[in-house]
Amino acid sequence: MDLISLLPLAPEDRIYQRDLQLGLLAELFHHTKVALIFLIFVLAIIWKLLGPLAENHPLFPWIFIGTAGIALLRLFSIHVMELKPRWLPEPNDRHLVFILGSTLMGIAFGIINWTMVPLLDPIQLALLGLIWTGVNSVAVQSMAGSPLAFTLDMLPNLGTFVAMASMRPPIAHNSLFLLLLIIYMVALLVMSFRFHQSLRGGILQGLKLGDLALRDSLTGLRNRRFLQEFMETEMGRTLRTWSVNYNGSSLPSSSLALIMLDLDYFKHVNDTYGHEAGDEVLRQFSLILRDTVRKPDLVTRWGGEEFVVVAVDTLRTPQLTLTERIRLAVEAHPFRLPNGQTIRQTCSVGYAFLPFLDLDPDGMAWDQVLNLADGALYVAKREGRNRVCGVMPGPTLADSPRALVAVGKDLEGPVKSGLVSLVRRNS
Ligand code: GH3
Ligand code: MG
Ligand code: MG
Repeated sequence: MDLISLLPLAPEDRIYQRDLQLGLLAELFHHTKVALIFLIFVLAIIWKLLGPLAENHPLFPWIFIGTAGIALLRLFSIHVMELKPRWLPEPNDRHLVFILGSTLMGIAFGIINWTMVPLLDPIQLALLGLIWTGVNSVAVQSMAGSPLAFTLDMLPNLGTFVAMASMRPPIAHNSLFLLLLIIYMVALLVMSFRFHQSLRGGILQGLKLGDLALRDSLTGLRNRRFLQEFMETEMGRTLRTWSVNYNGSSLPSSSLALIMLDLDYFKHVNDTYGHEAGDEVLRQFSLILRDTVRKPDLVTRWGGEEFVVVAVDTLRTPQLTLTERIRLAVEAHPFRLPNGQTIRQTCSVGYAFLPFLDLDPDGMAWDQVLNLADGALYVAKREGRNRVCGVMPGPTLADSPRALVAVGKDLEGPVKSGLVSLVRRNS
């Protein structure tokens, strides 16, 4: 039961999955709850129409079973959807605390329904309902943070009490209760629909806004901010598999490759054909990148005419064939400008693997490794452009791994001292 798979999400959107799961989960709970309570209403009304058979309250066990069922469903959904690997609460995890709390409340609610209701008169019951639903709804609001959520959670709960009160004989205003029940049911349905829309809309809008902030408007690619978030998640994942693979096993360790790309003499395009034409070249360049990388890889616009590709699950062979593939694809692509003219364009590429150091996989942060890739890009530029250059750990690195952290964009010194070595095509 993976609700997320029903949404059209790109693989790179997986960092949103937790938010989405929580949103959908909330929706699932609500609908289940409304459906069950709706059923109770329907039964209550049929009952009233069938006459004074309510003396023994055979519905009360069902109300209990229903409420406890919801509570179990909450737990079950959490478990099935694997919100947490072992669903132990993390510190300050409001959502889980809320869900556990409301589960306990649900069970208690059911017990109270079952045992207390036959003992109270309708007014006492209504008061109990108000207190009970008030507590429950405040809890909901503290999670959802919206007055609508508050109302919507309160109404069904309150309604249960109204329904039960209406079933209790002797009832003074029989037809009034019936009318109230019908109005209540209609209101519940309308509100439920609105809740559905607002929740769905809220999730999608939140995604969209979050998405806009994390996308580059010109190319539609992910931007630098997204890369930062992505790398934090991806780095953790890679380091985990790395330590599993590295410790004694002979499995080849997969790592990330950070690839930095820069268009060659791009200023010339702007100067000669205008800024619009430059923009068009950037768009086409981004399409080439997207088409050339594998699906789970990430393409971002780093800024200006510089792009960063994160290739995931890459084998650390010094020659990273993907980079040469990109270079050739760009070289071969006829860039059609808005005026119909076609021009040729090349790019230079630098790359480095993450983790950079075999023996100290988290010794260098991803941005430091990207810095090395940028250094390699600079070498590719200096050596004539339209070429690929990679950085690998050098022969003396094991002696002074700390020195690597201080390496800047200029790799000339570190190459000479053997801290790093450069990889060129077929060199
Ligand atoms: P090199 O081969 O050394 O990279 O030369 P270059 O001309 O590509 O590099 P330089 O850094 O001198 O110029 C980059 C240019 O990219 C300058 C800037 O006007 C242009 N540029 C940056 N962002 C955009 C953009 O969004 N649209 C357009 N049309 N041009 C941009
Ligand atoms: Mg540049
Ligand atoms: Mg450039």
